[in-house]
Amino acid sequence: MLQLNDPFIITHPETAYQSDDLSIFLNVRENKEYAKVSYPVKYGIFSRLETREMILEFNLNHEIQHARSKTRHWLHPSEWLKRTVSNDWIYYSSGGYAGVYEAIGEYYLPNFTYPTNSLLGGQPFEEPEVAKIYQNWPKLLAAVPNSRPDMPARVAEWLGQVKHITKADLENKAQTLFEICGARTTVLPPDARHSDYNVIPLTIADGCLYKCRFCKVKNKKPFTPRTPDDIRRQIQELAGLYGKDLVNYDALFLGEHDALNAPADLIVYAARESYDRFGFARSYMTRPRLYLFGSVDSLLDADPHLFESLNALPFETFINIGLESFDAATLDQLGKPVTARQVGLAFDRMQSINQACARIEMTGNFVMDNQLSPDHTRAVLNLVRHRITHALPKGSVYLSPLSFARPSREMLYDFYRLKTASRLPMFLYIIQRL
Ligand code: SF4
Repeated sequence: MLQLNDPFIITHPETAYQSDDLSIFLNVRENKEYAKVSYPVKYGIFSRLETREMILEFNLNHEIQHARSKTRHWLHPSEWLKRTVSNDWIYYSSGGYAGVYEAIGEYYLPNFTYPTNSLLGGQPFEEPEVAKIYQNWPKLLAAVPNSRPDMPARVAEWLGQVKHITKADLENKAQTLFEICGARTTVLPPDARHSDYNVIPLTIADGCLYKCRFCKVKNKKPFTPRTPDDIRRQIQELAGLYGKDLVNYDALFLGEHDALNAPADLIVYAARESYDRFGFARSYMTRPRLYLFGSVDSLLDADPHLFESLNALPFETFINIGLESFDAATLDQLGKPVTARQVGLAFDRMQSINQACARIEMTGNFVMDNQLSPDHTRAVLNLVRHRITHALPKGSVYLSPLSFARPSREMLYDFYRLKTASRLPMFLYIIQRL
């Protein structure tokens, strides 16, 4: 619907073409805020092409971003494929498993083409109809007529632009993204689900402190903060890369694995500079969020003023701390060089920050695996139930299965047992990359 106060009317005019077998809507406006709802919703401004067999959606750079088949071979009419800025395809399934929302805090379960630690979901990418869409969309798109006598010129021009972009172009663009940041983001914080993982990654420090033995996402780089000059360079290049689609973003991920260990002024500088240069105040999306990882040491060493500064930013900030275990033997087994005492202190500090800072949520991760000692589970329970006097709505705890190779579903029972007892919100952490 046309809104007279819509600042995007001029820059992104809506245009439609409809016939019996083809409809194209340019610059469709969907939700301005990410929502947790049990029906499919889309976000931002994009364009939609619909034939009798399929729906393809394209971002403002004319790159494919969503797709689904309309045939009876598609798994479920409310499920869809999404392509990320790093050129991964993700299949969003509506469940088939009723407890998706309770398990992950979201109504739709992401399924990936790469190995991860999810306890839930099936193998949608093995379905021929799913493969047909995500692998053959250029061919399907090529079969759509370039123009028709009754088609508005703007629509015909758009069709030419979307057909012009090849799979190789999209892969090259993803490689450019990784080069700008220094590497691919091998893991995003679980909190990034609040922005449907649509984040702009900005590396403010490479590597991490611990190089834990159990970790499958680490790299070999020693922890090294970037310079303000390098951060400015990345922001400028990222703004160019996201291009016209930048108006659909309002979330920032400060990488890599322990941005909280960077100097406090660098963290705040990177967040402020990004907010300004990415134009988040003018974004179509209206709830800016900032995500970063932290470690036990970086949290215990952090200057209290940092949290005051972050709390005053125009972002809601989510800091995810890798706690992993509160049991000394398990920490040893994981090769995590922190003590259980430090983990307890970090946990306490997270609760204090959550209480003091309305716009910051500190969240924590613990591992889970049926090879781990029952002492580990008891110790987690000790923290999330006995160390807290009453149920709290904030400060989510994520349980992350250690195994990437089809983890045992029996672990779900352990998870629900802990979740029921926990006084903090508790979810499964499905490791997702960008
Ligand atoms: S768990 Fe975190 S700190 Fe440990 S190796 Fe992995 S990224 Fe580094």
